[in-house]
Order: sequence, then structure tokens, then C-alpha cells
Amino acid sequence: MLEFLQFPCRTDNFGMLIHDPASGLTASVDAPEEAPIRAQLAARGWRLTHLFITHHHGDHVEALAPLKAATGCTVIGPAAEADRITGLDVHVKGGFRFLFGNHAVDVIDAAGHTLGQIAYHLPGAKRLFAADCLFSLGCGRIIEGTPEMMFASLERLASLSGETLLHCGHEYTLANGRFALTVDPDNAALQARLAEAERRVATGAATLPVTLAQEKATNPFLRAGDPAIRAHLGMTDADDLAVFTELRRRKDKFKG
Ligand SMILES: [Zn+2]
Repeated sequence: MLEFLQFPCRTDNFGMLIHDPASGLTASVDAPEEAPIRAQLAARGWRLTHLFITHHHGDHVEALAPLKAATGCTVIGPAAEADRITGLDVHVKGGFRFLFGNHAVDVIDAAGHTLGQIAYHLPGAKRLFAADCLFSLGCGRIIEGTPEMMFASLERLASLSGETLLHCGHEYTLANGRFALTVDPDNAALQARLAEAERRVATGAATLPVTLAQEKATNPFLRAGDPAIRAHLGMTDADDLAVFTELRRRKDKFKG
């Protein structure tokens, strides 16, 4: 059984370690900050063997070089951003599968936030590491790609089993939930999730992971087809992509 350890890094990034007791392998999903990652490794006596990099932004790769230098770990990351990430050893892209010990890891194209972003899915453990593509109750800003690209990426992630546990690059649930309520105010499941997120954040606890089934019931960016959201936007007859694009435009302007 794989062990998963989530912990805070930087201001609002998540650190994430995946440990396989059978093989002794340990991976960090992204490399947001060296000190907390090393502290968590040391506390458990785990040796870092892999980095699973999702995209080139500094808050996801800052600790790549020092961690690689200190541990000799193998760095896996997006082929499409290999020219922007120093130190990648293995280039992967959507559709690739590799083994971590005896555990399959599927690479999913998650472009939109950046042009080459990838997500990592461990189907056996039912865990998804969506980085800055799919957030809880939200989605990443479309910095390099197009709405079409981001919409297609979100559809790929949302097509995984509803039992899949979602991990994200940032703790944004509360701010995302406040925006979500402005476009889907009568969604009781969303109201309940926002209340739960407020309770957790107030005690210093993380709001993640959550199941994809919960996200599909509450995240407006996965619900472009929802009649209530469409009615609220005055876009009853628009196509899903147009609704998604309008949601993203409103979120970009939202001052929560
Ligand atoms: Zn990013």
C-alpha cells in the first residue's frame, strides 16, 4: 500500500510525498520548497528517489535543483516544458504510463494554465495530482493556453472515477468556494462544502483531498452543463465551452 503525505509549503502550496514501503521508493509531487520537504522526509526516514514535476512555474520547481543535488533523485516531468525546466531526467506526456515500484502512474495532459502542464494519476490508489489545472471548487488561471485547452484538460481529469481523491497544487478552496457561490448560489452541496472548508481552514487543517464525485457536484468549472448555473449566467442555450469561458472570465475579475 502506498503512503501519501500532504503538508503545506510556501504561502499556499501543497507539498506531497508518495512512499512505497515495498520498494523503498519515495516521490515528491513537484518541488515547491526544499526545507519542509526535507523535514518531512527526515521525520519519516524516507529517502527521496523521484520528483514528479507538473509544470515550469517557480513555485513548483524551486527546490528541484537542491533536492536533486542532495539525493540524486530521478526527475520526471513534462516533455513539452523540458526547455523551461532545468534538470529533467525523464520526459513524459499525456497518455504515458510508468511504474513507481509496482504501481502504475498515468500521465494526463493538463494544459491550459501552462502549455505543457501534466497531471499524475495513480489508478491503483485512486489518487489524482492535478497541480494547477483542477483546483477544489475552481480551476487554474489560463496563463499560457486557451479556454478550449483548459476545458478539454478539465474534462479529461473529471472523466476519472468519482472515488478518485483529488490533490491540487494550492490551498485555494475557500476563495474558490466563495466565487462558486456567486454563480451557483442554490447548490446545497456547494454550501455544505464551503461551510466545511471554513471549519477546516479555521483550525489550520487542509481542505484536501476531496473526491472527484464531490467536485463534480460542486465545482462550477466542471458543471458548465448545469441548468441552474446556465440560467444564472443568462446562457441557457450556449455551448458548454462558452459557459466555461464566461465562468473563468468572471473568476478572473472576482474580488472575494
Ligand atoms: Zn502554476
